[in-house]
Amino acid sequence: AAEPEDEDEGIEEEKVQNRVTYNIVFVTAEAAPYSKTGGLGDVCGSLPVVLAGRGHRVMVVSPRYLNGTPADKKFAGAFDLDRRIKVHCFEGEQEVAFFHEYKNGVDWVFVDHPSYQRPGNPYGDGHGAFGDNQFRFTLLCHAACEAPLVLPLGGYTYGGKCIFLVNDWHAGLVPVLLASKYRPYGTYKDARSILVIHNLGHQGVEPAVTYKNLGLPQEWYGALEWVFPTWARTHALDPGEAVNILKGAIVTADRILTVSKGYAWEITTVEGGYGLDELLSSRRIVLNGIVNGIDVSEWDPSSDGHIVSHYSADDLSGKAQCKTALQKELGLPIRPECPLIGFIGRLDYQKGIDLIRWGIPELMHDDVQFGSPRDRNMDLKSSSCGDFGNQVMLGSGDPLYEDWMRVAEATYRDKFRGWVGFNVPISHRITAGCDILLMPSRYEPCGLNQLYAMRYGTVPVVHATGGLRDTVENFSPYAGDGNGEGTGWTFSPLAKESMLQALRTAMMTYRDHKSTWGALMRRGMLRDFTWETAAIQYEQVFEWACIDPP
Ligand code: ADP
Repeated sequence: AAEPEDEDEGIEEEKVQNRVTYNIVFVTAEAAPYSKTGGLGDVCGSLPVVLAGRGHRVMVVSPRYLNGTPADKKFAGAFDLDRRIKVHCFEGEQEVAFFHEYKNGVDWVFVDHPSYQRPGNPYGDGHGAFGDNQFRFTLLCHAACEAPLVLPLGGYTYGGKCIFLVNDWHAGLVPVLLASKYRPYGTYKDARSILVIHNLGHQGVEPAVTYKNLGLPQEWYGALEWVFPTWARTHALDPGEAVNILKGAIVTADRILTVSKGYAWEITTVEGGYGLDELLSSRRIVLNGIVNGIDVSEWDPSSDGHIVSHYSADDLSGKAQCKTALQKELGLPIRPECPLIGFIGRLDYQKGIDLIRWGIPELMHDDVQFGSPRDRNMDLKSSSCGDFGNQVMLGSGDPLYEDWMRVAEATYRDKFRGWVGFNVPISHRITAGCDILLMPSRYEPCGLNQLYAMRYGTVPVVHATGGLRDTVENFSPYAGDGNGEGTGWTFSPLAKESMLQALRTAMMTYRDHKSTWGALMRRGMLRDFTWETAAIQYEQVFEWACIDPP
């Protein structure tokens, strides 16, 4: 038996040898498990590992956040490389250091500066977003551009021939720096930059006068210049001029990616473009969408360390135990027959939390439980845990919605639970223990919770938008020779009525059509959401980027 196995390994090795490999540099504000407030952290924690496993040399550059909590221990394995650089920005000179940990085949590089050491999450604290975020992420970008040139990782530097994967506005100055400060002087002429847009809603917009702080040549102002639409101006005398870092990245990146095909199209429309639709349309030729994968070892119901009982598509019995345990943990009546609906996510307008709020009084007439999580310390990201007929909500964010969850809990004692906080173990237990996961997002670039839910046999009910529409197949009872097809419900338009209708259909199917429900769960569990599939598509984009001259 040993022989064929060896042969297989040989073939695999040969495939890696024959594949074109790249030096890849991720630049990101978060990378799990070191830092995470949402999907960006998940992506930048998993994709680098998979690309490294496929033979690429991969570095991830992100800040070394220390907030004085036990979370700081996550950085304990990263050591000072003893390589300081000076960054010229904000009318001064800043010294930054680099810490490094080589793990899972990836060079994790952490930029060290006092501005990353304070209570809160990467972007803010209980009082809101940090006022100096433009400064903090300007430092990150300058440092990230130097890292491949100056850090001798494993004995030698990455050098100037690399592919920068620039994630969201926080990393958006990287392509602008490459175009304006490096390439004209011959450095990085063989490098390519790929902007990955995880959320167009955040663009890094600051008053125009701050341009001089960014450490860019004056002549490049036009790349970042942004004129607010009239409706967005604060008063009649507001000239509406600003610098927009994401815009600069869209203008200068060699290629642009988003985290689903659906979202790649939506951001070129007036409705989804947040003022950048025309610019994005003009770059359509280099714009693609690739649906995120998920870390199938962290999110695996057959081995998950956070849940009480393991299960798989072949034997779902453990899921019922997870539901009982969750109801117990939340103090809800233990009722296996009652559909339990969950919500996990930031409590903000993007996530359609207002729809849930307006829909709850009606939904609570039904025999259902609902729950979700909230996090008090997160201004830009939120979480809450509740129980709709039974509903459980885990989320954090907008204090308005956190307060609402508290009131809903008191009003619907046997049906609704809302848990405010950012808590990864609870998010796993909700994903495993609920029957239905609700995601009424107003827009959703990719969305990860619906992917985790499907893998855990929890049926998603989602607004048909962006990545949700791309990944959840609407249930059709008569398709597939009458056996049914689909993995959840996608509702549209974004209205309380259509959300409730989809939820009621899902609840009715759960209660009255057990075998149909079982088939729905299994179909979702067997879908391929691995990063391997996504990584192959990323490699295609690397190839396209390298064919085109910068
Ligand atoms: P976004 O990045 O817009 O917040 P995604 O669906 O892409 O949304 O990713 C959200 C990620 O953050 C998922 O891994 C989800 O489980 C996690 N998450 C969101 N809110 C919480 C919370 N309150 N506690 C724990 N994990 C959370």
